[in-house]
Amino acid sequence: MAKDTPKPVILWFRKDLRLDDNQALNAAHISGRPIIPLYIREPEGTGAAPLGAAQAWWLHHSLEALDKSLRKRHGRLLLASGQPLEVLRALIKHTSAEAVFWNRRYDPPGVAIDIEVKAELEMQAVEARSFGGQLLHEPSRLMTGSDTPYRVYTPFWRALESAGEPEPPLNAPSKLRLASGLPASESLERWKLLPGKPNWARDFADLWTPGEQAAQERLTAFVEESLDGYKENRDFPAKQATSMLSPHLALGEISPARIWDATRGLSKRVPTADIVHFRKEIAWREFSYHLLFHFPRLASANWNDRFDGFEWRNDDADFEAWRRGMTGYPIVDAGMRQLWRHGWMHNRVRMIVASFLIKDLMIDWRRGEAWFQDTLVDADPANNAASWQWVAGSGADASPFFRIFNPVLQGEKFDPDGDYVRSYVPELRALGAKYIHRPFEAPKSTLDAAGVILGETYPKPMVDHAHARNRALAAYKATRDAA
Ligand code: FAD
Repeated sequence: MAKDTPKPVILWFRKDLRLDDNQALNAAHISGRPIIPLYIREPEGTGAAPLGAAQAWWLHHSLEALDKSLRKRHGRLLLASGQPLEVLRALIKHTSAEAVFWNRRYDPPGVAIDIEVKAELEMQAVEARSFGGQLLHEPSRLMTGSDTPYRVYTPFWRALESAGEPEPPLNAPSKLRLASGLPASESLERWKLLPGKPNWARDFADLWTPGEQAAQERLTAFVEESLDGYKENRDFPAKQATSMLSPHLALGEISPARIWDATRGLSKRVPTADIVHFRKEIAWREFSYHLLFHFPRLASANWNDRFDGFEWRNDDADFEAWRRGMTGYPIVDAGMRQLWRHGWMHNRVRMIVASFLIKDLMIDWRRGEAWFQDTLVDADPANNAASWQWVAGSGADASPFFRIFNPVLQGEKFDPDGDYVRSYVPELRALGAKYIHRPFEAPKSTLDAAGVILGETYPKPMVDHAHARNRALAAYKATRDAA
């Protein structure tokens, strides 16, 4: 390296696989140092949040996309695996880097790594700087008047609104000074993030394109085509009415500030109610993260410890029928099969299938949460845990336990023509709207005409909902009375 060339800065990518609105990248760029872009694959089981199989598929393609963007700027992404501190130390030694910049994570293992890395690097006189950007506001910034974290969503939302507009997003630097002479990168192929045989992710690419460019295109399409009417349409799974940005957000291919910014200045074209409702959903994500940051046990333990004594049935055969989408309740089965086929499920249906698992089958929410973690491309430690606890009634500001979704009525209300069910449950495709959500009540002639043989081509309901509801309420009451 020439004498007057500044020493490089390592840009450590984490849940921020983008060049747009990337504060750490921007700071590295402004510093004028050559940049070494690095992604570290952390070992499983050492505190890092487990990477589910569906999200591993996404991560593979996302890293490829990021590397491609860097190559366009005459650089490349360095891949390394191991404990972050060890990887960073080795790279600093190899490249004589004098600084490491990164964007913070807010999940408990991510926070612990941040703290350790910062302290250790500073001890070695390496400049270690971390930045925000995964959230709209730092969790320490939005606190109640008595300086405690919010536990209830509505006041949290009010505080977020009155905190003022988030920082405007930063555009990606048009030119980057990327370091040359880097050590060899590990091979992405050898990380084996993609499924082997059978390739259960074969349909993912029909729906998804990982990477920040696709994220930005999806945002633009959503704002132009679906934001108008979002409040009304977002509950109907057969409509393409939501942004489907969640997997892009989960790995940070787009920032929440960029999304927020895209909803500015639209009031002449889009009703304010739709804009506000969409922002409120982004704020639910924010709320989940603030909760997880302040109460790390949310990820694995009942927030409300009264539920610790709840007598779950935890029947393995029932769990298997739920996972495979073979419960005999069409809206539940459609949701579980959408999840398997596309690695994603509509929010309304997530609530229905979660309620069914927890309340109709009385299976511990943590088993459902773990299945979602493994099969969702948008698996997110904050949103997943907070949402499961919300449905279970054990979470912060949760839906009360006694609110038990009736899967037939939910199906009829939110999928009135049955189109959603028909697209994921082909056995019922020929059944008309009247019985599509209750095939078990259809006359034999109707079933015959639709080619449905209950118990053979499609299952009979695995539980009677009315009976299951009473059973769940009795168990809940016993827990409540014992507390
Ligand atoms: P949009 O309606 O377009 O909303 C925009 C963004 O707002 C979403 O991408 C998401 O980041 C956020 N958002 C929307 N709804 C919610 C919500 N209810 N809670 C928190 N944030 C929300 N979301 C995940 O990102 N990862 C998960 O692992 C996850 N697990 C869930 C598990 C259960 C049992 C339930 C009921 C919900 C879960 N959600 C999860 C929340 C929600 O279902 C998804 O965020 C949403 O369906 C994503 O679709 P979208 O991007 O089209 O949403």
